[in-house]
Amino acid sequence: MRASRFPLFTSKETPADAEIASHRLMLRAGMIGRLGAGLYTWQPLGLRVLQRVERIVREEMDGIGGMELLMPAVQPAELWQESGRWDLYGPELLRITDRHGREFCFGPTHEEVITDLLRRELRSYRQLPLTYYQIQTKFRDEIRPRFGVMRAREFLMKDAYSFHLDEASLEATYQDMRGAYSRIFQRLGLDFRPVKADSGAIGGSVSEEFHVLAESGEDEIAACERCDYTANTELAASRPPLPEPQAPRPAEEKPTPGIETVAEQAEMLGITAAQVVKSVVVMADDEPVVLFVAGDDELNEVKAAHALGAETVRLAEPEEAFDATGVPRGFIGPVGLPQGLRTLVDHRAAAATNFSSGANRADWHWVNLNWGRDTPAPQTAELRTVRAGEGCPRCEGTLHITRGIEVGHIFQLGTKYSESMGATVLDEHGRDAFLHMGCYGIGVSRVVAAAIEQNHDEHGIIWPDPMAPFQLAIVSINAHKSPRVAETAERLYRALQAAGVECLWDDREARPGVKFADMELIGIPRRIVIGERGLDEGTIEYRHRRAAESENLPLEGAVEALTQRCAETG
Ligand code: ATP
Ligand code: MG
Repeated sequence: MRASRFPLFTSKETPADAEIASHRLMLRAGMIGRLGAGLYTWQPLGLRVLQRVERIVREEMDGIGGMELLMPAVQPAELWQESGRWDLYGPELLRITDRHGREFCFGPTHEEVITDLLRRELRSYRQLPLTYYQIQTKFRDEIRPRFGVMRAREFLMKDAYSFHLDEASLEATYQDMRGAYSRIFQRLGLDFRPVKADSGAIGGSVSEEFHVLAESGEDEIAACERCDYTANTELAASRPPLPEPQAPRPAEEKPTPGIETVAEQAEMLGITAAQVVKSVVVMADDEPVVLFVAGDDELNEVKAAHALGAETVRLAEPEEAFDATGVPRGFIGPVGLPQGLRTLVDHRAAAATNFSSGANRADWHWVNLNWGRDTPAPQTAELRTVRAGEGCPRCEGTLHITRGIEVGHIFQLGTKYSESMGATVLDEHGRDAFLHMGCYGIGVSRVVAAAIEQNHDEHGIIWPDPMAPFQLAIVSINAHKSPRVAETAERLYRALQAAGVECLWDDREARPGVKFADMELIGIPRRIVIGERGLDEGTIEYRHRRAAESENLPLEGAVEALTQRCAETG
């Protein structure tokens, strides 16, 4: 490709609203263009990268027997009503009405559509197992679209679905998929981890996410330094707490006028935050519930939702909390709450003895409370988020916390959709059996941004070879003044293209510094420079994007040498 004919819309300006490197660099390199909130055009440069990711994803999906299909982006509401998700999915689902007043949505995911297809088409259990996949545009009306294509509203996903007669077959395909995902992210040259995950709105029991490790990642991952335990902190388990060997002391009410935080409470009472049990009022779907966690712990809303069997759990507004308890914020506690108000105590808070908590009246707290003696017998569950430095739930090791970008998610759904939508197949005894199902997503467009988060410097992007839009940049210096430079560049360009090296020849009439800056910004992994001075010596200049220095290559044999270097890593 000649740069003079390619829309290289690079820019020096740092876009004001771009908070992270990949967003800034994708805009500055002219890979993407913003149309509206969470809506982006993939310009030719960006699309070349996106298509490289797609190619590797396709190869690995085909490699485990996946069959590609393409489903409609617009889906009838009836299917979502059947699965029960029309009401559950909430405002992230973009709902559309057609000219006849019929309701549709723009698909955020395709479990309903593929289940409908299979319930119509499948004839016999002998056709199972089956794995389908597509690479297609999804729409999710994200509450906070940001970071460019990293969290867009319209984005490209590879979604795969597998169907099985039984659980064992589902498990086998899930493991194949897990292997294919590892190969995909490895081939793309990314530093990634599979982590145990929550199933969220998709549903099902077993699920793992694939995370690209990056400081800018929105997810926190707990990983053991000793064993392979790795889990999203939404779900990472706590080690069971040891009982405190303290003799119970008599409980006492203390005045604590005006305190608002756990820290203030601990200071006023001369205790540590760990000796406080804090009360958090949440709305579990529409029901208020009081949750108790240790004063130095964070409530984990995902765990709370699981423990309460609720679809969603959120912190109650101050008025909702007051309506439920009759107590002003900061002074709620486990002694004497209204009858019938649901409560749940985190395991670690439940192991506390002689703890302090609100007295259920303004400006008073208890000290030396003990569960059961001073309160109703506690119902307990895992409700806290693990912290860096605490013990691994699996082994004697210690957990540390890193940040990651979720680029893939695999689920064993079981019969969730086949039961709600009546998708059955005749088994070997001629009886109807519900299909077992798995689903597997990769955020293809997010992968591009995630790769940049891991691979950039102050000059721009540094593509891992398999994702690079071009393998080699050819920069000719002042070719418009030097026929010798122009001819040599043209000859090398043609010969390298013919040898299968994808080149971007910067043949523009621009200053060398401008060309170097652009080639670095857009992240082409290798560059040659052809200029008068080198040609006098019979050489051209070569440099890898990660190398500190250039080297001189003899012009003689340069095509072979460069072809080999491009093949070595890519
Ligand atoms: P997140 O927690 O980041 O919102 P999710 O759990 O909702 O992701 P899934 O439903 O598992 O995502 O979708 C499969 C994949 O699609 C994700 O692993 C992610 O890579 C990608 N993805 C999800 N939402 C977006 C988005 N708004 N923009 C870009 N990619 C996305
Ligand atoms: Mg999401």
